[in-house]
Amino acid sequence: MTNIRFLNGLNTIGANIAEISTRSSRVITDFGMAVDFKIGTSQSLIEKHVLPDVPELFGDKQEQIKEYKDEAIFITHLHLDHTSALAYLKSDIPVYLSRPSYKLYRSLVKQGLGLALNVNFKIFDFEVPVKIGDLTVTAYQSDHDILGAAAFLIEDGKHAFGQSGDVRLSGSHRSAVDKWMNLFKQRNLDLLMLEATSFSFEDDNSLNGQGDNEVTVESKCLEDFKRILNKHKNLTVINPYSRDIERLLQMNKVANHLNRPIVWEPQYAHVISEFSLEEPIFVLDDGNLGLKGIAGLIPVSLLTIMNNLNHFCLQNSFENLDILMNFNKFIYLHCNGAPLGDYDPHYQTLKSFLENKRIEFIDIGVSGHATKAEICEVARTVAAKKTAFWHSFDPDAAVNALKNSGLQFLRPRYTEIYRFK
Ligand SMILES: [Zn+2]
Ligand SMILES: [Zn+2]
Repeated sequence: MTNIRFLNGLNTIGANIAEISTRSSRVITDFGMAVDFKIGTSQSLIEKHVLPDVPELFGDKQEQIKEYKDEAIFITHLHLDHTSALAYLKSDIPVYLSRPSYKLYRSLVKQGLGLALNVNFKIFDFEVPVKIGDLTVTAYQSDHDILGAAAFLIEDGKHAFGQSGDVRLSGSHRSAVDKWMNLFKQRNLDLLMLEATSFSFEDDNSLNGQGDNEVTVESKCLEDFKRILNKHKNLTVINPYSRDIERLLQMNKVANHLNRPIVWEPQYAHVISEFSLEEPIFVLDDGNLGLKGIAGLIPVSLLTIMNNLNHFCLQNSFENLDILMNFNKFIYLHCNGAPLGDYDPHYQTLKSFLENKRIEFIDIGVSGHATKAEICEVARTVAAKKTAFWHSFDPDAAVNALKNSGLQFLRPRYTEIYRFK
């Protein structure tokens, strides 16, 4: 018999953690939090649903009672709402990441863009089954706004369970998503755990400005970028997200080809350069670059940019907003960098800063999440015996949207253990 428990993250976005277990083995999928770091004992944080309900993994190593002979945590992707509880882990339980996710993790830590975690990391390759005692986990490449995102198939020899991770159908890897959806369908899943982020909001346009009435394809971001570069001959400032490596590389390429290279902050430049040196990478020489560690990168000083405003784009993180004080005329392209939206107070600071300087702000961001219609398409295509929606403020809205589909739903509760005999 295999049991499934939902350890955290019901009716919220992020922190969605499931435990799939047999008598001797268990697999936990994802290990994030929906909030920033909190101070408190692990027990009090579990009670507040900040941390997942697995106190044995947060206890002192000596006192830890080993309940399972074989166990592991599998991470779908490196967003903090899927990983941040790892910082509280006090156990040598293996934590599996996809190979590209692990490379990204190492690179972000090296550049100070990510927290170094004292955990027992292991790597999985896509489509290579990993045995954890009685359970087998096979990861499939998926599509989300971060490198290395996976969906998981978890099998016990009799039952099959799917975990979608965060997913979209309109990114650059649609064929990868089609592949796992069709494979999940063939396996006739007992349960599909499916993200339903877009069902959180009544207003279709509230998720990063993306709704079902709007085109949400990833390529639109690049098309907008290209169009704006062609139209505006001033300095173009961009604010993308450091973990969306594929987008960073593509923007770098587009800008180079239009002879308006992006000058990246050193941390971004180093991370990008670890993934591809196919295109020249320009880096802001802030006076601290030194001679070390800039191999392959082309340094550009702030003064050079100031004297050649129509020759460059400048990548600017919110922490370095004061650099923009040096410029009076530019256009600001927000492309999913922080601060992401109104819920973050820094967002208003950014908007006010730009308004005071009479700078045009254009949001060319594209969401990493499936639209409502796409979520329904995934559920229908996989057609699991039961579908459970989560990673949403309103999972019941997804159930309602599919009420005439013939699909069966499981509405997850913390207090239940779901048994598969
Ligand atoms: Zn998420
Ligand atoms: Zn995500």
